[in-house]
Amino acid sequence: MSGDGGTALVTGVTGQDGRYLAELLVDRDYQVHGVPSPRAGAVPAGVTPHTTDLLDSDAVAALVQKVQPDLVFHLAAVSSVAASWADPTSTARVNALSTATLLDSCLRVQDGSGRKITVVNASTCEIFAGAGDSPQTEATPVQPISPYGAAKAMGHMMCQVYRAKGLEATNAILYNHESPRRPERFVTRKITKAVAAIAAGRQDRLVLGDLSIKRDWGWAPDYVEAMYRMALHGKGDDFVVATGAAHSIAEFVEAAFAIAGVSQWRQYVESDDALLRPADRTVMVGDAAKASALLDWRPSLTFADIVEAMVVSDLEQERIS
Ligand code: NDP
Repeated sequence: MSGDGGTALVTGVTGQDGRYLAELLVDRDYQVHGVPSPRAGAVPAGVTPHTTDLLDSDAVAALVQKVQPDLVFHLAAVSSVAASWADPTSTARVNALSTATLLDSCLRVQDGSGRKITVVNASTCEIFAGAGDSPQTEATPVQPISPYGAAKAMGHMMCQVYRAKGLEATNAILYNHESPRRPERFVTRKITKAVAAIAAGRQDRLVLGDLSIKRDWGWAPDYVEAMYRMALHGKGDDFVVATGAAHSIAEFVEAAFAIAGVSQWRQYVESDDALLRPADRTVMVGDAAKASALLDWRPSLTFADIVEAMVVSDLEQERIS
């Protein structure tokens, strides 16, 4: 398909990216079907919800058969490294097995109907976490060091396997991306919520782990646009989606306090050894030259813009709460 107005199916539609992607697709005249989290509330406006168990292969096959999607975006996941250590079994089920199930259903429905189905799978830079190369590209060896990374690595490879069998399946190798919709269990949102509460005089401490850890942080709506462009590319492939710049958690904290107008930020920040994670072997920075060349994709917001958008949103939440 060459443009707008087909049928799209989005798993994880009630997550950060799922909501942005659903809005983008509705705005571009797609009929959007979504699988929400079993724990979520309402689906985004304009989305037809399907309470399908992504671990039930018959249910997933029936869903794909019923919806007859042109585009499938597989975003549902246990999406944090910390959560994956707490529950590696669920992580493997959701992040690896559901991906295999969905890809297999799409290939079968495509073969049965003769209508092309394009799949974009949310892969992650965490599949490269033990590789040692920096910056990473699509050619970096897959070497995960967490249950999250390992389960996503299986999903990533399954996508390549089904591509070889004739499905137009693409891995979006996503680096960290943030927004005011990021859940508080992620460090960026934990920081911006706390900074807003400190600025409002409601909180006096922000407890973090290692402030020197660096991440390549992008803007979630930009990453969703990249996934959409992959779906229209006309060929299954793997694409790194990243900004190419790494910033430390300390830089994020300092920038966030500055935007909130709070000076002497160090007096509010404490380090807790319980929050320390094993030292990163690899500085996670992505080289998105391929996405730039083939998809004409590039980030629209800088690191400073992203911190500002998140702090301003949380200050506004403080004001109205
Ligand atoms: P979110 O956690 O916000 O969204 C993922 C959604 O999947 C959540 O709503 C989650 O629900 C849901 N989910 C989990 N298990 C199931 C299930 N069995 N059935 C249906 N839904 C389920 O993550 P993001 O939107 O930030 O990320 C989207 C994708 O991109 C994920 O696959 C993530 O791993 C990947 N990614 C994200 C990065 C980022 O920085 N944001 C970086 C790299 C990859 P609940 O929260 O209730 O469990």
